[in-house]
This record gives sequence, C-alpha cells and structure tokens, in this order.
Amino acid sequence: MVSMESKTPQIPRLLESRVAVVTGAGRGIGLAIAHVLAAAGATIVLADRDEAQLQLAQDSLAAAGATSSWIRCDVTSEADVEGLVDRCVERFDQLDIMVNNAGITRDATMRKMSFDDFNAVIGVNLSGAWLGCRAAARVMRDRGSGSIVNISSIAAKIGNPGQTNYAASKAGVIGMTKAAAKELAHLGIRVNAVQPGLIRTPMTEAMRQDIWDRKLEVIPMRRAGEPVEIGKVVLFLASDLASYMTGAVLEVTGGRDM
Ligand code: NDP
Repeated sequence: MVSMESKTPQIPRLLESRVAVVTGAGRGIGLAIAHVLAAAGATIVLADRDEAQLQLAQDSLAAAGATSSWIRCDVTSEADVEGLVDRCVERFDQLDIMVNNAGITRDATMRKMSFDDFNAVIGVNLSGAWLGCRAAARVMRDRGSGSIVNISSIAAKIGNPGQTNYAASKAGVIGMTKAAAKELAHLGIRVNAVQPGLIRTPMTEAMRQDIWDRKLEVIPMRRAGEPVEIGKVVLFLASDLASYMTGAVLEVTGGRDM
C-alpha cells in the first residue's frame, strides 16, 4: 500500500490563501483530498457526520502542519449544508473551493434492493452534492470566482450489477455538474467532476477478496488507486491550472473502462 506521505512530498503551492470545504472528509478519499489541498496551501474546512472522526482528521492535518477546522454536517440535510457554507464564510471570510465528496453504497441486486436503500444512496450521493453545489455557488457568486469539484464514479459510465442506486446517483452527479457548469460559468464559477475507479478506502476494503482480485484484472495499470491520487486531480481542477475547464469529467481509474 502506498502511504499518503510518500505521495504528497512535492505538492505545488497552488492554493495559497484559498479556503476549501471538503464533505465526507473524515476518512478515505475526502481526507486525502483535504491533505492534498492543505499541502497546496489552502485552509481546509472538514465536513462529515461523525465528530470524533472529524477531530481525528483535523489532528492528522495539524500533524502535517496544515490549518483546518471542522463542522459537523450531514449532506442530506439542507440546513446542515447551508449552515456549513455560512459558518465557513463567517470563520474565514470566503469560500473558494467546494468538494462534494460524501458518498455511500447500499449494494444489492434490484430483486433484493429496498426502495429505502435506493433513496438513501440518491439522497447522499446526488441530493447531497446538489445541496453542496447550490450553497457554494450562493456565496461564490458574490466574489465572482470559485471552483466546485464533484466526486462521481466510473460506475456512472459503466454501471455495475448490484449498484443500480449507486450508478444512478453518480451518473446524476455528471449531469448536474454539466448543467451547473453552464449556469455558473458567467459568474466565474467552474464546476467539474472526477470519476474514480477502484480506490483503496474503507468503502472498498469491505469488498470480498475474489471480487477485488477480479476488478484488478481489468485495470491496465494492474493496481488499485490510492486516495491521494484522487486528491491530486481534485487539486488540479480546484486550482488556476484548470482555469479554462468547466463541465469536465476526469476519469482517474488506472486506465480501466476508458
Ligand atoms: P468512505 O466510506 O471511506 O468515506 C466516505 C465518507 O463520507 C465517510 O467519512 C462517511 O461518514 C461520509 N459520509 C457518508 N454519508 C454522509 C453524509 N450523509 N453526510 C456527510 N458525510 C457522509 O468512502 P470513500 O472515501 O471510498 O469515497 C469517497 C467518495 O468517492 C464517495 O463519493 C464515493 O462514492 C466515491 N468513490 C469511491 C471509490 C472507491 O473505490 N473508494 C470509487 C469511485 C467513487 P460515515 O462514516 O458517517 O458514513
């Protein structure tokens, strides 16, 4: 396994004096995104459901010399997401980058999937990202600039059996990203999406070994990605390096399903 430290030594300081909110930042890809954006100079607001997990995340950023703050936020709650953005602006006077990363799976074939599990996944992955986009755009439009990055999944493109809910939610994120990009471009706000492939996190570590091995076989690079490798692509989209990109969807999959 490649550690976060070994992959973040030369992050360029592309985000000096920027403020970034990352949802689902308590662990996994969200935490890695927070580390990379912080290494690039951003002040980070960590958002997640579990306060103890958030404190651990903040401690890990502090240990890396980064400034961060956390706000408890369930992305399925309109009040929480609006409050997240408002409190970020109260504390730091601005919001430059919003990363809508929080996500869940509730896998089952349609025969076995409950309507509740369908709706739960749509609620976090799609409605949560929409709430994040809307709230961030509300404050970014006043400054005439901002970058929103939504975390979709390669499942949006290919569909996986047992993931009708997840694939639908992640495909919805792509459509929403493009529509929001068109609505917000004239306000100086860019909206882009990342489609990770198989990334080693608590979400995927629960996978059965034989299923994991089969997935590796179809990845041209023959390995899973590390969370920090998503973080580096988010950094690119969040930064001025991507100043003429909006509505783009970047696959970060080691070549899988290209
Ligand atoms: P993890 O399950 O490891 O982390 C997800 C984080 O999101 C957890 O801290 C979780 O908190 C939080 N979260 C869940 N629901 C909510 C909510 N309602 N409000 C706020 N936070 C919430 O997942 P990953 O890091 O693997 O995934 C991150 C994103 O990347 C997701 O959107 C996922 O769909 C996407 N992705 C992941 C891939 C992978 O291979 N890992 C591949 C493609 C896309 P809690 O502990 O409370 O549930």
